[in-house]
Amino acid sequence: MSDVKNWQINREMQYPYEESRPQKQWSIVFDLNKCIACQTCSLACKTTWTSGKGQEYMFWNNVETKPWGSYPMAWDLNILEKLGRQDWAKNGETYEGKTIFEAAEPEEVAAHFFPTDEDWMYPNIGEDDCTGNLEGGAHLNMPHKHWFFYLPRTCAHCTYPACLASCPRKAIYKRPEDGIVLIDQSRCKGYGECVRACPYKKSMYNPHTRVSEKCIGCYPAVEEGKQPMCVQNCIGKIRIMGFISPPWKARMDNPVDFLVHKKKLALPYYPQLGLEPNIYYIPPIHADLEYLTQMFGPRVQESIDNYKTLKDDPVAQGLLVLMGSTDRIIHSFKVANGKATGYDEKGQEIVTVPVTEPLIVREAFDSELGAARHNTP
Ligand code: SF4
Ligand code: SF4
Ligand code: SF4
Repeated sequence: MSDVKNWQINREMQYPYEESRPQKQWSIVFDLNKCIACQTCSLACKTTWTSGKGQEYMFWNNVETKPWGSYPMAWDLNILEKLGRQDWAKNGETYEGKTIFEAAEPEEVAAHFFPTDEDWMYPNIGEDDCTGNLEGGAHLNMPHKHWFFYLPRTCAHCTYPACLASCPRKAIYKRPEDGIVLIDQSRCKGYGECVRACPYKKSMYNPHTRVSEKCIGCYPAVEEGKQPMCVQNCIGKIRIMGFISPPWKARMDNPVDFLVHKKKLALPYYPQLGLEPNIYYIPPIHADLEYLTQMFGPRVQESIDNYKTLKDDPVAQGLLVLMGSTDRIIHSFKVANGKATGYDEKGQEIVTVPVTEPLIVREAFDSELGAARHNTP
């Protein structure tokens, strides 16, 4: 075991390999206040990558309704129960509990569980199930207020992947150029150790090819400067893919660094597991705070407070409208004179959008043309 720095839990932790950060780290930010669970992202991924034999059950991108939905079933409850009660320090910055690597049994790499076949059978279980006791509506009685939210999930291309650490064949590797985590299909022997170890359950076994598979970060698109399919096709424009820096190298004109490090809007999910996952979420402002704190850590309230001040921040507003405005990867951005502009890696302009959409009211009757624009003016 090596001591490695994990900035999300603000301390060093134990990991089977030495710290080795990539030159760039693939990441996605999701604004959970905007996701409508249309599942276009899930289908964009499915039709691109998992329409083959043995992949029928796979959703490398899935969207689940929280708190009741989960795919595979109860993946989050299972790993949290396995870990037992753990705490953050009172200052809310440092995690004092055990990560899954530190809580591992002797001879194991990580605390883990193995989903059954049945757990993978219901990808959309719990959809739109609300918390609380709604008369004639939701059937579950919980102490929370009435709420739910949608959580889209891909592989997090973790800085400290449990899948990689657990593979006895060393078939899983993290690419130094972009931090994408891949399974070498020719080395994998299908032992399923990665399926067992990944706490987010984003490594999946293909019974037809008898090897494991996972989200590949759409690396062929990324190599061409394009965002992944699940991001390009997001109907709600809730996502942006880019490259995140560790906080000590954060660049304020980098969209992902801006949202995560500067504005402190987007948070990693279940950072306490210790993988430094690289998908980040702007938490929903309406859901139960204790539940959100468990999921996103103790900075949730700060993030929600910051989100509510965005109406007074034209730069952040500009970045939010750049989300979903282009299929290319935005490496830097600028907001000036009511316009937001995204640039590629070489500093070339990719896209410019107005921060506020112009509102044009067309008269029902055009007196110049003498024509009515509506049937019922
Ligand atoms: S396409 Fe976007 S809005 Fe639709 S479910 Fe996926 S993340 Fe949510
Ligand atoms: S989310 Fe799971 S499959 Fe993806 S890199 Fe992390 S540990 Fe591996
Ligand atoms: S990044 Fe690509 S492979 Fe991964 S979930 Fe999204 S579409 Fe699928």
